[in-house]
Amino acid sequence: MALDNIQVIFKARPTGWVDESHFEIRAGTAGEPRAGEVLVKNLYMSVDPYMRGRMREGRSYVAGFELGKVLEAGVVGVVIESRDETMPEGTFVTGTLGWEQYSLARGKGLRKVDPKAAPLSYYLGVLGMPGMTAWVGLETIGKPQPGETVYVSAASGAVGQVVGQIAKLKGCRVTGSAGSDEKVAYIVGELGFDAGFNYRNAESLTKALREVCPDGIDVYFENVGGKMLDAVLTRVNMHARIVACGMISQYNLARPEGVHNLMTIVGNRVLMRGFIVSDHYDRLPEFEEQMIGWLGEGKLHYRETVTEGIENAPRAFIGMLKGENFGKAVVHVGDA
Ligand code: NDP
Repeated sequence: MALDNIQVIFKARPTGWVDESHFEIRAGTAGEPRAGEVLVKNLYMSVDPYMRGRMREGRSYVAGFELGKVLEAGVVGVVIESRDETMPEGTFVTGTLGWEQYSLARGKGLRKVDPKAAPLSYYLGVLGMPGMTAWVGLETIGKPQPGETVYVSAASGAVGQVVGQIAKLKGCRVTGSAGSDEKVAYIVGELGFDAGFNYRNAESLTKALREVCPDGIDVYFENVGGKMLDAVLTRVNMHARIVACGMISQYNLARPEGVHNLMTIVGNRVLMRGFIVSDHYDRLPEFEEQMIGWLGEGKLHYRETVTEGIENAPRAFIGMLKGENFGKAVVHVGDA
């Protein structure tokens, strides 16, 4: 008998801020795997900023969500029925599956994960797509050198907390900003950042940056965009690198803000370069080995906000876009 399967459907396309009316919770049933497929019981599901881009009409760097269909997300789960001999029942896997309790998938499209190496939810964060984003963005574009000043925005989030800690391991002076005093206390007190500020109550972003980065900024890990980028451009040093990772302050605006201080890029010979993590997935084994090593040695700390229940996934997603998450935002969907 088919299993009951609570699913979250993409109901309506938002034009400004997303709210719960854009989603529908549906009681469906789990499918039966065909040859080469497996049925996965979803345990943790990720909510990520890029999903806002997938709700838009037109091009994003990942294909858009389809109206009326189950939304997609990074998921960690366990195979409970298998027609792929390489993925027997009981295998823990991660992959792009649905906002639902059970997902059908091609076995080939999934990656095995080791539940003994780390808590399973970590494969959606520090050991998954956001962690890899931090690792690869810093290494391929930021190229931080010992003694340089690194500044990261959205610093307590999934990507930001990893960026700051890797930059510290590389011998940099690390600074960051976040949206509450508690988040700033966390990055400085627990993650070892050298300084930080709460951008929401900063009198002026330029002044706050001058205080935390008195010698200027050599590497800016850009997660926020808009006014933050404009302020950073007034503080970048000669030959600074801007790792253009994301611009979350712009995702819910009907019309993006302008940036005014771009001429500094010319005068200071600044490199600003974008990247998309999935272009680097061939390096996942190398990334995973290094991160599991650092976690095991206690060199990396990690924090997440866990929302209970698939029916609360829309709330978790909207909350993350507003900064209600503290660390990586995940949804606990079920137990193995
Ligand atoms: P986070 O875990 O950092 O969650 C998002 C955070 O963004 C919120 O908690 C909030 O924190 C902050 N935020 C929201 N609105 C604003 C705003 N207007 N101004 C400043 N901060 C804001 O998310 P991720 O770590 O997953 O993602 C961080 C960035 O990395 C995003 O821009 C995302 O798009 C990008 N990204 C890019 C990838 C790539 O391949 N290029 C891959 C993965 C992520 P706070 O309380 O501090 O405001």
